Amino acid sequence: VPVANIMGIPFPKLTMDQTLSKLSEIVEQNRSSLFHVITGNPEIVMRCQHDAGLRSIVDEAGLVTADGIGIVLVSRMKGGHLPERVTGCDLLIRLLETGNRNRKNWSFYLLGADEETSLKAAEAIGRTYPNVTIAGRHHGYFTPEEDEKIVEDIRRAAPDFLIVALGAPQAELWIHTYRSRLNAKIAMGVGGSLDIIGG
Ligand code: UDP
Repeated sequence: VPVANIMGIPFPKLTMDQTLSKLSEIVEQNRSSLFHVITGNPEIVMRCQHDAGLRSIVDEAGLVTADGIGIVLVSRMKGGHLPERVTGCDLLIRLLETGNRNRKNWSFYLLGADEETSLKAAEAIGRTYPNVTIAGRHHGYFTPEEDEKIVEDIRRAAPDFLIVALGAPQAELWIHTYRSRLNAKIAMGVGGSLDIIGG
């Protein structure tokens, strides 16, 4: 796939539909390693300029999406032309729609947001997309000591998608730290999406 390079970060030139096809393929394969989707927003791109740790997480990710119109417009100035924005929130909703339609029993684990929002988001998803499963959920206000318990809960749930709403770049760091133990096929940070869905 051709890429647009924005301040050193390679963004593949994929539309939302192409991104969905790619992720659908990955979920249907029996891959052994977690596929990390990074929603590349301006904060992440800027932070990568001086944060080598985050930069290497982005370099190791399976896919970086153009999270926001700013990234798409900048790509035009640089002659790179990303086709359209693919935000974490839009991508999450399209994945839920796709899973609801294809009836392949895709499962989602929701990590992040406050407890009430997490519960409401899970309920709203269950109501709107009855053919997907919420494999588990946990709010996002936990201490590092609780990481182990949460990793174990996710590992046991073995979700197709681990949706992480802890803010950026905390979501990316958390996914990367535990990626080998999460037993999820695809993980992605989604910023404040659960607040939008559960609000
Ligand atoms: N959040 C969380 N735990 C924290 C800090 C934030 O679960 O310790 C959640 C917060 O409730 C919200 C999301 O992370 O649902 C952050 O949303 P924001 O729009 O700030 O994300 P960003 O734009 O930073 O990716």
